[in-house]
Amino acid sequence: MRRGHVGRTIGEILAEVDQRLEWAQIRFKEAKESGLKVIGLYCGYIPFELVRAVGAIPVSLCGSDADAIPSAELELPRNFCPLIKSSYGLAITDTCPFFHFADALIGETTCDGKKKVFELLARLRPVHVMQLPYDKNAPGALDQWRSEMKRVSEFLVGVTGIEPTPERLSAEIYYENELRRVLQRIVRTFERPVPSLTWTQMLSVRSLTDFVVDRAPYLALIEELAEAVSVADAAVGDASTSGRMPRVLVTGSPMSPETNKVMRIAEESGALVVAHDACSGTKMFDRLVDEEGDPLDALTRYTLYIPCACMSPNDGRVDLLRSSVSTYGVEGVIDTVWQACHTFNVESVIVQRACREELNVPCLKIETDYSAADEGQLRTRIEAFVEQML
Ligand code: SF4
Ligand code: SF4
Repeated sequence: MRRGHVGRTIGEILAEVDQRLEWAQIRFKEAKESGLKVIGLYCGYIPFELVRAVGAIPVSLCGSDADAIPSAELELPRNFCPLIKSSYGLAITDTCPFFHFADALIGETTCDGKKKVFELLARLRPVHVMQLPYDKNAPGALDQWRSEMKRVSEFLVGVTGIEPTPERLSAEIYYENELRRVLQRIVRTFERPVPSLTWTQMLSVRSLTDFVVDRAPYLALIEELAEAVSVADAAVGDASTSGRMPRVLVTGSPMSPETNKVMRIAEESGALVVAHDACSGTKMFDRLVDEEGDPLDALTRYTLYIPCACMSPNDGRVDLLRSSVSTYGVEGVIDTVWQACHTFNVESVIVQRACREELNVPCLKIETDYSAADEGQLRTRIEAFVEQML
């Protein structure tokens, strides 16, 4: 059992992560009862810092519950992204406690499916939709996104009555950067021959960030984990090897601990998942927001440069892939695409080409949804992919 100096084992700390995920809805209920406002978000382009700076609590409402999909399909097309269907199904059936507690929602025009669904969600909650420029380098894109930051700030002030002053914003940027720095320390374990965590475990650690009312206990918990991981890494040393476990990067559409079947099957099939560069992985913490200068400018730059497939062109995606392959010694890439997600689906051609022609690693594209129906077929394909790298 891996243990820090005198502290808890990694397993004990991870058990607390799972427990906090389970208890999150109780903390949000208490926060609401104490008069705090809750703002529901669906994407990393909306900075948590802005929501915190107006005294509200941000919460991710991206659905990961397959059971919510049939209700959504009564209104939405069946051939539609499961993430959107699940999010919408949870909202219209009022079965997601976090949606239930949300006072208002902030959407974004990242993909066509989401932006139209925000029109439907406006029947249920006040919704503000941020208009995202698709080419971050186009003339005026930065200014346009800066004015969207200003508009959403005004919307948020309307919800809480608190101004996001530069001082408040800077303090929030510093705090969120602290969380990012600790998460960056933890994922360094995946650079090692034998990491002290699995990426399935790391997915839960990162996911908890989306459901935090009080950040201090969360920060303390991940700092404890970072310390325990670093001690465990030092104890194992560099000489150990994982045997012949091919080092795999899982990329593509975001997943959650409930919808990570591709990553889980890869790990069960003998792959060592050492990188996950999606929004559910390192993409949301591998950079820091600039702590100097105007804080709203810094948040504008930081978010506009998120390399999401909704951007066109999205050269940052291959840059990120290239650096992850090199940092983590990746031997194979699995590109996961949610069914009917056109942006990630088409961009997979670029990902596969980069793997083949530049990075010289095999790439397996998997298009799937939230159901368990294709697990057997996926397992066969992923096992064959892992074997090919042995
Ligand atoms: S994948 Fe793109 S649209 Fe989805 S959460 Fe990430 S940045 Fe937002
Ligand atoms: S996975 Fe694709 S279709 Fe689904 S919400 Fe994200 S960008 Fe939109």
